[in-house]
Amino acid sequence: MKKFSKVLVVIMALVMVLAFSACGEKTGGTLSMATEATFPPYEYYDGDAIVGIDVEIAQAIADKLGMKLEITDIAFDSIIPGVQSGKYDIGLAGMTVTDERLLEVDFSNSYATGVQVVIVKEGSPITSVDDLFGDGNYTIGTQTGTTGFLYATWDIADEGLGTVNSYAKTTDAIEALKTDKIDCIILDSAPAQALVEANADAGLIILDTEYAVEDYAIAMQKGNTELQEKVNKALDELIADGTVQKILDKYITD
Ligand code: GLN
Repeated sequence: MKKFSKVLVVIMALVMVLAFSACGEKTGGTLSMATEATFPPYEYYDGDAIVGIDVEIAQAIADKLGMKLEITDIAFDSIIPGVQSGKYDIGLAGMTVTDERLLEVDFSNSYATGVQVVIVKEGSPITSVDDLFGDGNYTIGTQTGTTGFLYATWDIADEGLGTVNSYAKTTDAIEALKTDKIDCIILDSAPAQALVEANADAGLIILDTEYAVEDYAIAMQKGNTELQEKVNKALDELIADGTVQKILDKYITD
């Protein structure tokens, strides 16, 4: 009996050690981030590595929280469902805060401004955003599930003023524009600029007029106030000490 209880004590001690180390792992833990990595300079591939503004901001937040950042590249319209279900802790993808998305996820404070612009081929009859609402009946390329896609659908397709073609990747939309399958693309300005530069021989230009101005923020599971508070605290510190601006300036030069 005595021997038995000794064994029990040892087993209990072992269980406690294991339980504690598991807890330790969880508080240090991994911060899993979902993104869609055809969105330079916010997220894109450099060789096999995903790099960019969002990656650096997420890494800085993870560092502050003492967590290891783990990035998964998925379709843009899978990010919110992935965060909603708890599969990923955070979604960073140059993601705009919208009323519709706020019904599905919570957002951090905003860390950047996004501007929706229009990319056309040189010589296009589309010379300003207003032309999209004329009688040109244009085909507009967008990335599936983005605000560009929603604006084009609501403002143009649903009004019978044109057609929307949507693509999983921004790079697929660029290819479609280059091969005249679509007349223009509605996209966020920094990626638009980076993609136009990356395709310098294709004669793509960005119209001067803006379609919309938006706020980018980090998506998190609805109701996970503990995570939201931690992320906001870290983000606010990184904004206050100039780190976020430094990261933005590193990637966006004009
Ligand atoms: N800012 C846009 C949105 O949130 C586009 C983001 C993206 O394509 N990564 O819908």
